[in-house]
Amino acid sequence: MGWTDERVELLRKLWLDGHSASQIAKQLGEVTRNAVIGKVHRLGLSGRATPSQPTRPAFKAPRPPRPAVAAAPVQRRPVEVRPAPVPPTPPVVYVEERGTATVLTLGAHMCKWPIGDPASDEFTFCGRRAGSEGPYCVEHARVAYQPQQTKKKSGATELARSLRRYV
Ligand SMILES: [Zn+2]
Repeated sequence: MGWTDERVELLRKLWLDGHSASQIAKQLGEVTRNAVIGKVHRLGLSGRATPSQPTRPAFKAPRPPRPAVAAAPVQRRPVEVRPAPVPPTPPVVYVEERGTATVLTLGAHMCKWPIGDPASDEFTFCGRRAGSEGPYCVEHARVAYQPQQTKKKSGATELARSLRRYV
């Protein structure tokens, strides 16, 4: 049985409606699924859009309704043990202890970090052993030479600088 215009039209319509080749073959009768596919290709119809467009009659079996309450998914992955979030490192706040040196006792290799009010009797210098790179001990050097953006907030640093001229 050949492809009459009528059958070709029907084929074209069914194909564009999203029917499968075997469905079309059944509808047309006396033709195999392969023959339908071959004809479709010859007609240049093979690139039809996906048959999932809602405007097309649905030949597919309707989806089974979802169960109202979905079963809780089984958790297969082991629970991730997350390390506690590390809080950002707080800026170094140096708690000043009373220094061990005064203007009179401050030696060449002692930390010249001023502690307290220079006008008061309580005023001292740190007096610990100064590091090799400057007039301060390790801890005070760290405060004195901290990055620019935090330096200006440290009044002690400024004080230390101004006092360096005199000690
Ligand atoms: Zn010091």
